[in-house]
Amino acid sequence: MAAVSQNGAFDAHHPPALELLDKCVHCGFCLPACPTYTLWGQEMDSPRGRIYLMKLALEGKSEMNERWVSHFDSCLGCVSCMPACPSGVEYGKLIEATRAQIERNYARPAAEKLHRKFLFEAFTHPERMKLLRLPLLAYQKSGLQATLRAIGVFKALPKRVATLDSLLPRVKPAEDVAAITPAKGEKRKRVGLLLGCVQQAFFSHVNAATVRVLSAEGCEVVAPAGQCCCGALFVHAGEEEQAQELARETIDAFEKANVETIVINAAGCGSTMKEYGYLLRDDPAYADRARRFSAQCKDVSEFLAELSPRAERRPLQARVAFHDSCHLQHAQGVRTQPRTLLQQIPGTQLAEIPEAPICCGSAGIYNLVQPGAARELGDRKAQHIVPLQADVVATGNPGCLLQLQSSLERAGNRIPVVHTIELLDASLRGLPLDALR
Ligand code: SF4
Ligand code: SF4
Repeated sequence: MAAVSQNGAFDAHHPPALELLDKCVHCGFCLPACPTYTLWGQEMDSPRGRIYLMKLALEGKSEMNERWVSHFDSCLGCVSCMPACPSGVEYGKLIEATRAQIERNYARPAAEKLHRKFLFEAFTHPERMKLLRLPLLAYQKSGLQATLRAIGVFKALPKRVATLDSLLPRVKPAEDVAAITPAKGEKRKRVGLLLGCVQQAFFSHVNAATVRVLSAEGCEVVAPAGQCCCGALFVHAGEEEQAQELARETIDAFEKANVETIVINAAGCGSTMKEYGYLLRDDPAYADRARRFSAQCKDVSEFLAELSPRAERRPLQARVAFHDSCHLQHAQGVRTQPRTLLQQIPGTQLAEIPEAPICCGSAGIYNLVQPGAARELGDRKAQHIVPLQADVVATGNPGCLLQLQSSLERAGNRIPVVHTIELLDASLRGLPLDALR
């Protein structure tokens, strides 16, 4: 009989830590906060159940087999369970460690491996995604997309293809961001801006809006050359080495820029960058630098809410449904700040979306690798949004934006979904809401 290793089913490189697992007292307070438990009511698809499964594997009482892995693949990594936990269980660290173990030690089927590789190769290289802009624009503007959807072609194609089509961004004209944008009026801060991958390729107007707002508020904005993908998608998927490599490159790029604060307008990227200190804790050359870097990172809403408003806010008559991205509200604890920014705009009325802590199903590449659960969650979110009769939905993460857009469309609703900063930018420029369509 094969001897059970000291770490059970895990290898020796950072298995989920026993001291973190043992903090769970099995009280179950996290269960109603968990989207997958909410959907299916299964203990093993709840945070408590997953923690139990991690412990069984650590003790050598469970193998890393298909069924065991499926309970972790179905976890969104939304960490909605963390603020709900009275014992302070750091589920985020546990799931990241578990996922890294799965990717190193579990042989995924070849087709699944290929699909994941394709997603990483596409979504973590903005220059590759930019090449898709023109064909995508032609596909959308020619009416081909609408025709294929109307005649039901996607129903006959693999689910993955249909999901990808439903999540395609609506291509808007590209807007460049200068390497350095001066502050308007007296300079208050010098900040760096992460351009992001999906953000840079398909939401360049969000980056341009971010720069205009920051500049109007007295910030000199540096968009450092040589910045790459921040590694968030890799962290969330357990691809630790690639994530670390990209984290090092990101730190190098921003250190050269010599900025006080690093501003991020994509919540998934921000939550990862705030954890670089942890990600690079074993690297003697980067551990301290990573900790310093993480301390400089702020979501754009967090940064602006702390900076007293200086630019004039012009009225924007709009009822805004604000959607909290999980990586903003749970992972970064940023909930009030985007609302504060929206409330600063005269004429804007906030509509709160019921069940706000529950994920919309986006969660990095979750909606592409777990399309069924993601669709259920997206539909659930749309059902909460539609009755609000809002003029626009605002959120702080490109992934949520695409997921909400697609879910609302499925619900027969073409309400615009925008980044929060776009509304503030429109107010500063005196533009009507229609300018954002
Ligand atoms: S991260 Fe989200 S999906 Fe996973 S266990 Fe926690 S609440 Fe549930
Ligand atoms: S709330 Fe915290 S302690 Fe209670 S079961 Fe969930 S993870 Fe464990």
